[in-house]
Amino acid sequence: MNNPHKIQAVFFDMDGVLYDSMPTHSEAWVRAMTQFGYDFTTNDCYLNEGRTGDDTINQQAQLQFGRDATREEMDKIYAFKSEIFEHSSGALPMPFANNLLQKIKQQGRQIVLVTGSGQASLLENLNRDFPDIFNKNNTVTAFDVTYGKPNPEPYLLALKKAGCKANEAIVVENAPLGIEAAKAANLFVIAVNTGTLSDKILYDYGANIVFSGIKELHERWDKLDFL
Ligand code: MG
Repeated sequence: MNNPHKIQAVFFDMDGVLYDSMPTHSEAWVRAMTQFGYDFTTNDCYLNEGRTGDDTINQQAQLQFGRDATREEMDKIYAFKSEIFEHSSGALPMPFANNLLQKIKQQGRQIVLVTGSGQASLLENLNRDFPDIFNKNNTVTAFDVTYGKPNPEPYLLALKKAGCKANEAIVVENAPLGIEAAKAANLFVIAVNTGTLSDKILYDYGANIVFSGIKELHERWDKLDFL
């Protein structure tokens, strides 16, 4: 990886970065997987964060039953998980996420969302919580990729959408597999540790810097020397 310089674009993961949504996601995943006969814990959820729904379910089918998940099984479990999630009280935006996004936009840098999520209401929620930041041209979701994180594909697509080189962009991620995906795309990664994992795990997966959260990143943004 080349050290970043003159940052033109910032790629943001969504869950656990822009939204404090991981506790709700993990509860929905555990309930849906259990309902369909899988053994799946909160910790499994954090360790698998960033995978598409299909990949998450398929991997568990292979691990637990020694077979691939069927299309029907993947559709039913993910639909049930999404239903639980959408009927939950809803995830709040991370404190200072909107401030940070607006600041980056004012600096003239591009912003791209890179998420494994395939929620139907995703863009609507983003526009409500982060006005005038996201549209379909600067979002990469589960619908845009063949291989989700930890494959580099979503981040390579983000580079294409932003029209810049790997050393002109940085990534903000919270999850091990998201960091792995970004590193595989040769990108510099700022991790925000907003979950239950240790900083060490995030560094082990390749994070270049680990901050405690978006609030700390917002406070330190102007002092990052590669901006
Ligand atoms: Mg995340």
